[in-house]
Amino acid sequence: MQFKRRKARAAIGAMALALVLSACGGGSGSGGDSEYPIAENPEFASGSTPAKLADSGKITVGVKFDQPGLGFMPPGEDNPVGFDIEMAKIIAGQLGIAPSDIQWKETVSDNREPFLQNEVVDIVIASYSITEDRQKVVGQAGPYYVTGQQLLVREEDKDKITGPEDLKGVKVCSVTGSTSIETVTKEYGAEPVPFDTYSACVRQLQNGTVDAVTTDGAILLGYAAQSPDELEVVGPVFSEERYGVGYYKGDTEMCKFLTETINQSFENGSWKSAFESTLGESGIETPEPPTTDSCSQG
Ligand code: GLU
Repeated sequence: MQFKRRKARAAIGAMALALVLSACGGGSGSGGDSEYPIAENPEFASGSTPAKLADSGKITVGVKFDQPGLGFMPPGEDNPVGFDIEMAKIIAGQLGIAPSDIQWKETVSDNREPFLQNEVVDIVIASYSITEDRQKVVGQAGPYYVTGQQLLVREEDKDKITGPEDLKGVKVCSVTGSTSIETVTKEYGAEPVPFDTYSACVRQLQNGTVDAVTTDGAILLGYAAQSPDELEVVGPVFSEERYGVGYYKGDTEMCKFLTETINQSFENGSWKSAFESTLGESGIETPEPPTTDSCSQG
């Protein structure tokens, strides 16, 4: 295998291997200074995707813009914030790419696969559960986080709708192209009301058009935190959602790079600091990092 030295992309110099925490914290969404290591001369197999990205000095990442704590674009700003955003910065850093050279592209659940298949983005980091069906058309490295599906209801309904068993015939909003809408419809007989985004679902819940919203707990807690007197996350977790980083199907070099980078972030403190400054802020305890999959699925 032929290796080639890559040019430095960021003038962090000797600090490259240090975990540099900025005063404004990991969740700041700062497009400039990185809180994570930026590799000075990353070496990748010649012609591989990581080598090409490192050479170009930029990367386009598909992320959510409306999920507080995970991927959220604050009104009037240019840089999103959240745990997925921090993971993107960690990954870009290992390619020698600074946060300011990341191009953020909004994805909704239903366009994650097409955005990868049509090369609209280089990678997707968007509450993107690893599933066999998705792996038929895209690659998914990870997981870097494991959560599970729950319910969000109006405060006054929290004793009426207490878990997925109460959903038969109930109007439940979720998002087209998500695992959440499938599970709730197939396994619990809910009446699905599909929208493009979870924030649109939350508006339906608030205006009384639907009686519950369902998706991953990590997402719902972010909305509940925005309206604590009005909305509540209820019931047990009823699915396992293993968040992965989407890449182009069959790109094994990219899979290996992403998996190594995720594992390294578990070990060097980057992942913990990313979590604590984002989802941790909404009261979610920092979990043990998950075990990543091997890259055999292509
Ligand atoms: N993690 C689930 C999925 O990938 C639900 C969240 C989402 O739609 O982004 O479908």
